[in-house]
Amino acid sequence: MKTIKPNYYDNFKCIAQHCNHNCCIGWEIDIDPDTLAYYQEMPSPWGDKLRSHISLNDTPHFILGRNDRCPFLNDDNLCDLICAFGEDGLCNICADHPRFFNEFSDRIECGLGLCCEEAARLILSQNEPVQFSADEDSAENATAEERDFFKLRQDIYSVLQDRSIPMNQRIDQLFDAYSVKQLPPLSDFKKIYRSLERMDPQWDHYIDQFVDTDWSHHWEIPCEQLAVYLVYRHLAGALKDGQLKERIRFIALTLRIFNCLIRNRTTLEDLYEIARLYSAEIEYSDENIEILLGHLR
Ligand code: SF4
Repeated sequence: MKTIKPNYYDNFKCIAQHCNHNCCIGWEIDIDPDTLAYYQEMPSPWGDKLRSHISLNDTPHFILGRNDRCPFLNDDNLCDLICAFGEDGLCNICADHPRFFNEFSDRIECGLGLCCEEAARLILSQNEPVQFSADEDSAENATAEERDFFKLRQDIYSVLQDRSIPMNQRIDQLFDAYSVKQLPPLSDFKKIYRSLERMDPQWDHYIDQFVDTDWSHHWEIPCEQLAVYLVYRHLAGALKDGQLKERIRFIALTLRIFNCLIRNRTTLEDLYEIARLYSAEIEYSDENIEILLGHLR
């Protein structure tokens, strides 16, 4: 089994107490069976402390404390479990976050999820076209369907990373190449986005800004990096659900929204925050993506 990763992947390092949107606040943290067994057998005093903060209802998870904080996130915003046991003390979800993994017959594709502000910074600040540690030429052990998919995806990367033409024209080229219907005006999506599950009320303020303007060319490279990230992360879902065109439209819609929201922004930090927020609200919710794909048929 091969491991594929984007070239920035190994540069990720959690910024811990310096993080403004700590992932140990506000998210439910599920505990995998192996780690649960480890916690259940752990001797006291740590064992009792751990077990008193775990709910076994539905999927076992930590019971969040004040302000939806993980009970092991201390007042300095450091993880008490890491401080006591190192990374070995973490459940899988905490050890992996913000990494994601897409599995194929011959490979695991690893990436960094955009809902982490440090990952967003790393992804969007790349200047050169992103490269991956293998391409479709080395897919001899994949299924025929997967090989076709890798070839198609490589072609899509080539279009999206063609810096000889503006980013909006690259997206149009994709639509033409794969006979994908153009998107309706962005303002048509306000109502749909307002109807989706919400994590942060400030997202409403951004939805209000969905307006139909010309494509802004000020931030072409971050838009390209976002496009390649979305293709790498989300297009493979079409192998399972057959929604290739819908997924291309979802990626194009996300880029259209991002471009609209960043058009008057002057700093990269603003871009990281908008991408992070979109990711947390939309991209990290399978349910929200499913609803959007339904609207993009
Ligand atoms: S969101 Fe990212 S940088 Fe922030 S605490 Fe979590 S993993 Fe670390």
